[in-house]
Amino acid sequence: MTNLQSLIEKIRTCTACSLSATRTNAVPGEGPATPNVMFIGEGPGFHEDQQGRPFVGPSGKLLQELLDSINLPRADVYICNIIKCRPPNNRDPSPIEIKACKNHLDEQILLINPQIIVTLGRFSMSYFFPGEIISRIHGIPHNWKNKTVVPMFHPAAALHQNKFRIQLQEDFLKLGYLLSSQKGDPSNQESSTPQQLNLF
Ligand code: URA
Repeated sequence: MTNLQSLIEKIRTCTACSLSATRTNAVPGEGPATPNVMFIGEGPGFHEDQQGRPFVGPSGKLLQELLDSINLPRADVYICNIIKCRPPNNRDPSPIEIKACKNHLDEQILLINPQIIVTLGRFSMSYFFPGEIISRIHGIPHNWKNKTVVPMFHPAAALHQNKFRIQLQEDFLKLGYLLSSQKGDPSNQESSTPQQLNLF
């Protein structure tokens, strides 16, 4: 078991799959060492590959708006991806690439140990709930190894289709309620607690 800094160095120099040959920078992830919430996206796009940072392009701009909508500072959350290197032309990650990168995410989750994990898109949902369908379970908090995992649509889908944007906005509001109920905020009781949060 390593510490977070050495894991990040390991990811930056990883050659476990062929994406290491085409990347500009690996994108390990960023955020505080002990956050309450961790977001897991799909994989770096053009801007992320250039800068070595997650969610800094158009999807990152929308993610920032969504975080703002629930007053959750980006600096307070950890943000990473299922795969750490950009697939050429932003194609979907292949099963081989996801498998090659899995150890990194396993270690990241163990080290960072967030209470709440938000998955963005179907690839990161499948890490926790293989075989599930995102349109069926998005926005619903699930128990996973003593943590709460909330699957959501990917911001890139929301940039293309308004119906996904609306669902993502609603799911972020539910996340906001979940966070305030965690803190015991009395203004959150009854009227503001979404029904889905009563599922566990
Ligand atoms: N899309 C992702 O899934 N991750 C990023 O870091 C950027 C865009």
